[in-house]
Amino acid sequence: MSRFFSARLSALTPYTPGEQPRERKYIKLNTNESPFPPSPKAIAAAAEAAENLQLYSDPTCRVLTEQMAARYGVSPDEVLMTNGSDEVLNFAFMAFCDEDHPALFPDITYGFYKVFAALNRVPYREIPLREDFSVDLADYQGTSGTIFLANPNAPTGLAHAPQEIERLLRANPDRVVVVDEAYVDFGGESCIPLIHKYENLLVTGTFSKSRSMAGARLGFGIANAALIRDLDTIKYSTNPYNVNRMTAAAGLGVLADEDYTEKNCQAIIENRESAKTVLKNLGFEMTDSLGNFLFIRHPKKSGEEIYRELRERGILVRHFNQERIKDYNRITVGTKAEMEALLLALTEIVR
Ligand code: PMP
Repeated sequence: MSRFFSARLSALTPYTPGEQPRERKYIKLNTNESPFPPSPKAIAAAAEAAENLQLYSDPTCRVLTEQMAARYGVSPDEVLMTNGSDEVLNFAFMAFCDEDHPALFPDITYGFYKVFAALNRVPYREIPLREDFSVDLADYQGTSGTIFLANPNAPTGLAHAPQEIERLLRANPDRVVVVDEAYVDFGGESCIPLIHKYENLLVTGTFSKSRSMAGARLGFGIANAALIRDLDTIKYSTNPYNVNRMTAAAGLGVLADEDYTEKNCQAIIENRESAKTVLKNLGFEMTDSLGNFLFIRHPKKSGEEIYRELRERGILVRHFNQERIKDYNRITVGTKAEMEALLLALTEIVR
């Protein structure tokens, strides 16, 4: 830290992204990216948009916003497009949290929530998951503040049905509930239809996972128009051109190819479920993940050992050195061939 760094932020611990190694070719199952390339329509659209890079992007992201509204059955003023969903989440911390509205989220969840709270200097409280890693929504009753729930949660993959989230919304009409649906397309059920019933619901989503566009950085928020206007105020106060031309075009391209996305999601779901069966036969314990990842441990080997031995075999997974989950590894679901290599390696490791 230089002597010039703001004293207000001196205690900030930044988020640690998963490794992006260059020194060796790994089977990369550590950052929940899609193993499939982007839609050819997305690639072609991005290339065409590159011809106009001398011009700023459309700050209203009008065409993409309209297509998103049509895709999700909402109106364009209920949609905000962002630079990855990390950006809309950060905007939500800025817009809807303060001293009187602390951020509340599970003790085991997406690690960035804590960082956004610290960066924006808003108080936060981590609410412990149950022993089986499920969220007890009743724990949020009787608290006050803005609730952040990843649904499905990461890194556990456990999800709530929208009816359960709806009970939370109904009981807490005077505070914002943010439902982060980064992984919803792999078997979860979206809360987006609830935005017309609950003015305090913000649903966030991403093109990084199911739509194979992690490198393009495209995310979105869907909510009641008043909440979207608040987020827009933050956007125009930070970076009005937050979605670049190529990314907006790629987003339109992939939205015109929903069959491709659907087919890829089905392949991930199949690979995930068949891996669960094999892993159980090998003695692994796991959550019933609905994400594009598995969350597993083995009674005979530590999480750290499994992480290291997979790495030696050229397979990268994610290990979190966090008390309650250090026995586990989070493993992104890859192609059939990648999963075969993973399962072969894990068989050797635990035998
Ligand atoms: N939410 C959750 C739960 C995530 O795991 C991630 C990805 N790491 C994000 C949001 C952010 O993804 P992106 O910024 O790529 O949309």
